Amino acid sequence: MNNLVARETEVVVIGAGQAGLSSAYHLRRAGYEPDRDFVVLDHSPRPGGAWQFRWPSLTYGKVHGMHALPGMELTGADGSRPSSSVIGGYFADYERAFDLRVHRPVDVRAVRDGQDGRYGQDGRLTVESSEGLWSARALINATGTWDRPFWPRYPGQETFRGRQLHTAHYPGPQEFAGQRVVVVGGGTSAVQHLLEISEVAAATTWVTRRPPVFREGPFDEEWGRAAVARVEERVRRGLPPQSVVSVTGLPMTEAMERARAAGVLAPRPMFDRVTPTGVEWADGGTADADIILWATGFRAAVDHLAPLKLREPGGGIRMEGTRAARDPRVHLVGYGPSASTIGANRAGRAAVREIHALLGSSQPPVPAAV
Ligand SMILES: Cc1cc2nc3c(=O)[nH]c(=O)nc-3n(C[C@H](O)[C@H](O)[C@H](O)COP(=O)(O)OP(=O)(O)OC[C@H]3O[C@@H](n4cnc5c(N)ncnc54)[C@H](O)[C@@H]3O)c2cc1C
Repeated sequence: MNNLVARETEVVVIGAGQAGLSSAYHLRRAGYEPDRDFVVLDHSPRPGGAWQFRWPSLTYGKVHGMHALPGMELTGADGSRPSSSVIGGYFADYERAFDLRVHRPVDVRAVRDGQDGRYGQDGRLTVESSEGLWSARALINATGTWDRPFWPRYPGQETFRGRQLHTAHYPGPQEFAGQRVVVVGGGTSAVQHLLEISEVAAATTWVTRRPPVFREGPFDEEWGRAAVARVEERVRRGLPPQSVVSVTGLPMTEAMERARAAGVLAPRPMFDRVTPTGVEWADGGTADADIILWATGFRAAVDHLAPLKLREPGGGIRMEGTRAARDPRVHLVGYGPSASTIGANRAGRAAVREIHALLGSSQPPVPAAV
């Protein structure tokens, strides 16, 4: 790597999901030219961020609260089509409309401080990728969570003779037909999986670490703000963020009401061990299973930032707004409190405003027409 020449730019944006595209849009608006003043790198094969990988039965109509990217509405979408293709298509149109020139597939493996001497570029950040090096004065990390599915460990897990899979690889309900399925997790994904699978499976068992909180009534702005504030407080203290969705509770829909009445949404406490044929509780109770589906969430995909040593002893990255407290050149968009489509939009704008101020007078002065 040492003898590769780094391409110089002002800002590298890693990730072209909602957070990365929103940031790129605001960079354009602030006058930054794509491929000269900023580059967007993404390791997925197509436009769409994590949406491109979501299971086909998650239709656009089932996606609640998806906010459009800034500057271009998503109108007239057919609710019966998979969200992966609706949103993937919309993101592709967006990238074209604003000429964002996403480089893909480009996998970012590490980001280093120039001052660590490796590349001899004081004050700059070096981005190591599958397509070589970029050297930048600021970084917007918008890598989401999809690449880091979280699997908790339970005794006996490796002895299970059936199939185990995570939400990240959920194929839709068909493969569960006639099977006995244990679904683990108390979030929206677990409930969506259960509703679908219970229609075709021989039996379903739902286990959650904490009793799930169902929220009756509308999800209003005040409730949303309170949830975001809780996650914000965690990242300000350098703790790993909880997902915004996990603190908003589960909004009760009509389909969920029906499933609850039918006994499908009857959570049991977390089991104590996995056995070759299912799961077992400390009191000796068991549930036989052919499949265990871990809907246990995701963690921030930030391992490539490890050389920057941003983590606090609490395990998280301490944040001041979108800025990493330990390095003002580094902004995290879509992280913690901004890990929602509306949060990512706002954080993209805030990050660009701060980066623009940080980079100061050397920036192009005239906002580009986008
Ligand atoms: C099942 C599910 C349903 C959801 N539904 C909603 C909803 O209805 N409304 C809502 O507001 N939010 C929803 N969310 C949360 C939602 O995913 C986020 O709000 C938002 O879409 C995330 O955008 P992002 O840009 O941060 O991440 P992503 O969409 O994950 O984009 C990150 C991008 O970074 C790239 N990347 C990652 N690591 C690297 C690397 N090392 N090098 C290069 N590229 C990299 C990836 O390829 C990806 O394209 C949902 C989440 C899940 C899991």
